[in-house]
Amino acid sequence: MPVRYYDWIAHHRRRTPDKMAVVDLASNRRFSYAELDARVSRLAGYLRDTLNVAGGDRVAVLALNTTDTLELQFACFRIGAIFLPLNTRLTVPELRYITGDASPKVMIHDDDLAATALEVAKLCNVAATVRLGPGSAYEAGIAAARPLERFEEVMLDDISTIMYTSGTTGQPKGAIITHGMTFWNCVNLGGPAYISPASVLLTVLPLFHTGGLNCYTNPVLHAGGTVLIMRAFDPGEALKLISDPAQGINVFFGVPAIYQFMAQHPAFASADFSRLVIGGVGGAPMPVPLLKTWEARGVALQQGYGMTETSPAVMVLDREDAARKAGSSGKPVLHTEVRIVRPDGSDAAVGELGELWVKGPNITPGYWNRPDANASSFTDGWLHTGDATRIDEEGFYYIVDRWKDMYISGGENVYPAEVESVLHQLAAVAEAAVIGIPNEQWGEVGMAVIAVKPGHSLTPAEIHTHCQANLARFKCPRLIEFIDALPRNATGKIHKPTLRQQFSQPKPTDTAA
Ligand code: ATP
Ligand code: MG
Repeated sequence: MPVRYYDWIAHHRRRTPDKMAVVDLASNRRFSYAELDARVSRLAGYLRDTLNVAGGDRVAVLALNTTDTLELQFACFRIGAIFLPLNTRLTVPELRYITGDASPKVMIHDDDLAATALEVAKLCNVAATVRLGPGSAYEAGIAAARPLERFEEVMLDDISTIMYTSGTTGQPKGAIITHGMTFWNCVNLGGPAYISPASVLLTVLPLFHTGGLNCYTNPVLHAGGTVLIMRAFDPGEALKLISDPAQGINVFFGVPAIYQFMAQHPAFASADFSRLVIGGVGGAPMPVPLLKTWEARGVALQQGYGMTETSPAVMVLDREDAARKAGSSGKPVLHTEVRIVRPDGSDAAVGELGELWVKGPNITPGYWNRPDANASSFTDGWLHTGDATRIDEEGFYYIVDRWKDMYISGGENVYPAEVESVLHQLAAVAEAAVIGIPNEQWGEVGMAVIAVKPGHSLTPAEIHTHCQANLARFKCPRLIEFIDALPRNATGKIHKPTLRQQFSQPKPTDTAA
């Protein structure tokens, strides 16, 4: 029997009306569950009655992190509309691609992003645009609207959101997210991440990506906890907030780059992490030396693995295993099945690398308007993740790298993430990325692109010596390039296509032969 979607905000308004639901740190706006519920209700009325948004229509949001994004999500759900969060760091042509693909009925945008929003909306024939902020049409619309009296009957299998993937490997794809997927993510992630009504989360990742929205913003609101929203990540400010007893922050999530920036900040050494129940990390390979840096400050970061398409949790490492199994993404969450598959479709043995396939109620039914990707990404309901993975004797999973980033040097497979982790052992390395570069003799050779920490120095010879002491010869990068900062996408992930483009004509600096 189809199951209904139940509105969490309305639920917590009935149970704990005065409890703080969301705090917008930039504007210091604070909404209890009762206040948030009232705003969502009026906003839903405004979307439906004034902007003529109907069930199934897409509502695009182009905004830096605010509580507005969250109330828009819940208002869409109440009227059966589809929430479409857009990446604020994209250019007009990139946004035009996504907006053209998803064809929203309205676009709601930050004041700061008005020029971009209006241009994209015009190019894509979006019927209406609405500006956010104090004294805006949005606020006037909410104030004047009649609260929605009856929620649309929305089922867990209905589409709630279209969320575009990070675009780390190519064009972003619109992953279809159903209400059920988000619900099962709250169930799957809630237990291992110790999410409860007592959770107070600091959200720093963008809400337009699954990491910001679902790790752990939605699970904390589902549980009736409190979410503090930072408009844009600032490492010093984040450390100050986490250390402040008055904020009571006990839950945090970041991609590895977030933890790297915080660890490099002068305030890191004296920050107070004693209230943190959970510091989750995922979204990209986490260098083990960085895990150790945090461990030395008493924080056992909890690794997890997931994708936009899996809304996102697939694996989580329990806090108790964080130190012993550093580098592992843990074990599958409760309601998700995983397989490690050989190229011929059979199951890989323990210790053998294969592609990770996943199945379960938190997995996308497919991509929006992408029959090609839908045909190539699924086998009998199993989603092919594209991630090279192995399992150890104790059943712990290791995400080694993306298949596509693996390169073959002298007939041997090299997984860049392993080499990058060794490079991060060098104290002078701020950022490191390894890519395969075509080479006549070896097929491909590794190139390490390195950003050195300010005030430190590092020579190619030192890098070669360190790699040769810690890695098999075929894994040692033969080419070294120094760069001020690595190119990253909006989630903070290193963008290897840009690096490949930039360094496809390398200088002959082969000093390691
Ligand atoms: P696109 O699909 O558009 O190329 P993307 O894959 O980076 O972009 P996301 O859905 O944000 O978009 O990221 C999911 C991917 O992130 C996974 O497939 C995996 O490659 C990587 N990833 C996530 N968690 C981890 C982890 N713990 N360790 C290593 N890699 C991870
Ligand atoms: Mg992907």
